[in-house]
Amino acid sequence: MSAGPGHIDLSAHSCLPGLIDMHVHLSGESRKQADALRDTISLNPADHAYRSVAYAERTLKAGFTTVRDLGADDGVNVALKRAIAAGSIPGPRMFTAGKSIATTGGHADPTNNYSQRFSRALGTPGPNEGVVNSADDARAAVRARYKEGADLIKVTATGGVLSQARNGQNPQYTEDELRAIVNTAKDYGFRVAAHAHGTDGIKRALRAGVDSIEHGTLMDDEAIALFKKHGAWFVPTMSAGRYVADKSKDPDYYSPLVRPKAAAIGPQIQATFARAYKAGVKIAFGTDAGVFPHGDNAKEFAYMVEAGMPPLEAIRSATLNAAALLDQGTRLGSVEPGYAADIIAVTGDPLRDIALMQQVRFVMKDGVVYKQP
Ligand SMILES: [Zn+2]
Repeated sequence: MSAGPGHIDLSAHSCLPGLIDMHVHLSGESRKQADALRDTISLNPADHAYRSVAYAERTLKAGFTTVRDLGADDGVNVALKRAIAAGSIPGPRMFTAGKSIATTGGHADPTNNYSQRFSRALGTPGPNEGVVNSADDARAAVRARYKEGADLIKVTATGGVLSQARNGQNPQYTEDELRAIVNTAKDYGFRVAAHAHGTDGIKRALRAGVDSIEHGTLMDDEAIALFKKHGAWFVPTMSAGRYVADKSKDPDYYSPLVRPKAAAIGPQIQATFARAYKAGVKIAFGTDAGVFPHGDNAKEFAYMVEAGMPPLEAIRSATLNAAALLDQGTRLGSVEPGYAADIIAVTGDPLRDIALMQQVRFVMKDGVVYKQP
């Protein structure tokens, strides 16, 4: 066959729908604490925005034609989404949460662990900056995301591993505050993704009606039952768990506050994934890329298969399932008439060797080819 214009020979390849990663942070990438600290002090939002251009291109070329970006400061992710949508730069189609919503001192409070002098200079963050401490604040923060240009809401229902705070799993909202977020989000057509490691926070978020739990590390049987009762999705992010557990062994990589959390929480996600999958919890593919280098997203497939999920189901979690959680099930996640022309190809058969998903040879998004064999 000739490879003339409009004709691409992929006969030696397996073709799949463009992949969807439901948990990325394209506005940044993990680095050593000393470098991260220097960035905090010296970089402007525009610096982060220029860096994100390369992250977006790497993600697209790894076969991910769509991503859900779950939180950034200073509107960098919203600006990146606009630049990609306008065709100014190559990148995946983005659905973004804008700024994550946190509580004071909680995971995603942008001023955690700053000195008094630094904090004073910045002022106390409020709903506009994504920090809330009441149901009224919570409603204001959702409306601020609407104004900011977000597509969905991200709420940090428990402590987190990489925030400069002691606890990585405590509940950080009342159920009333979570309900205020979910109910307000509905008014704006937003879905709600809840970051949660600890058991209580997972349950409060599920009872409040969030659409997905991110990480879900310490879910117990009651939490699994709540997932099923509410029809909520689990987005496992094993890639991030592996990466932080590995980096926790390097004394220079994370701060003394972060290191023990990374060592304790990171290694547990895969066992949780195995239990949740067996119990029939709905699973959508998500990695938390940015916690580890962008472009390595497809390693998650291997972790899923290693934990007992058949390869075809792992691929479905990143296509059909992810599209359903995005509320884009009639437009994305499948190759058929009426759907976006998002097609990727890998050499060989990924159903026999899931590691092939890490070697995507061809990428088309919206009918435009970004990578050729
Ligand atoms: Zn994340």
